[in-house]
Amino acid sequence: MVEKLIIIGSGPAGYTAGLYASRAMFEPLLFAGYASGGQLMLTSDVENYPGYPEGIQGPEMMMQLRAQAERFGTRILDRNVDSVDLSHRPFGVTSGDESWQAEALIIATGAEAIWLGVENEEVHKGRGISTCATCDGAFFRDKEVMVVGGGDSAMEEATFLTRFCPKVTIVHRREGLRASQIMGLRARDNPRIAWKLNHTVTGWLGAEGDFRGARLRSTADDSEEDFTCEGAFIAIGHKPITSFLGGQLETDASGYLLWKQHSMTSVKGVFAAGDVVDTRYRQAVTAAGMGCMAAIDAERWLEAQ
Ligand code: NAP
Repeated sequence: MVEKLIIIGSGPAGYTAGLYASRAMFEPLLFAGYASGGQLMLTSDVENYPGYPEGIQGPEMMMQLRAQAERFGTRILDRNVDSVDLSHRPFGVTSGDESWQAEALIIATGAEAIWLGVENEEVHKGRGISTCATCDGAFFRDKEVMVVGGGDSAMEEATFLTRFCPKVTIVHRREGLRASQIMGLRARDNPRIAWKLNHTVTGWLGAEGDFRGARLRSTADDSEEDFTCEGAFIAIGHKPITSFLGGQLETDASGYLLWKQHSMTSVKGVFAAGDVVDTRYRQAVTAAGMGCMAAIDAERWLEAQ
């Protein structure tokens, strides 16, 4: 049997695509992955998604988005897609030792923040160490925090955090910043931002639930020191989740999928939405909007075939 539409991904983009496509009677099949729900499953309160004046827990919001997609007929499989074959239509989708076929695909697999992978990181993930100041900054009100990284993301996160935090220390492994001049200058001019250049984080301090700071190593002379702070934000970049595509779709230099015509990728009939294409906004609400766009574009494209 050939499916009309397969959606891969279960963040706000994937579920919103499912919602729209099912309401358009395309009966989409959605691969949610073994760990469904995407990055919001790692967030506690979501306070910036319109419609929830009191905020909502990330996992609860994802359950509601899923239920809403299912209500109109989206069929959901909690399986990972291992590979796709985009060389001809219908396209092939493989998970484990089973395969499916579809006339159209929506790729909404998102991105993941890059973590440092140093000692004690798992213990403090999401409680003490975050990769999203927009999501978690408000929980660090009046606390001294650090931001790791020297790119635009690190500057943006640090500058944003100074709204809440009296002192934000940027820890960067080199003397020079990778950030654009304007973002670097804005951070340098901010009196609440302190600098710890030429240092890397070699591990995190404190027991579970009691984050204490970082162990830093100087890249100049290899000396080590304990740096005390009450929270840490890692901003060393994101990576889109695209390895299962096997390089069959065009990407930018960083590996994000490219939109060629509206939300259609370089292969006709394959659409993309959410953080897997988004290097700029990366918000739940923008991902949901892109999921809607991809579903509408897929509907129109399928109808035109
Ligand atoms: P990025 O430009 O790749 O910068 C990553 C930073 O993290 C670099 O300074 C890098 O150090 C550091 N880093 C990487 N791996 C590390 C490690 N293992 N340990 C310690 N430090 C590490 O990533 P980004 O800042 O996320 O920006 C990504 C793209 O989005 C860029 O094109 C950026 O311009 C854009 N962006 C734009 C805005 C804006 O305009 N408002 C905001 C955010 C992002 P090195 O410098 O030594 O390599």
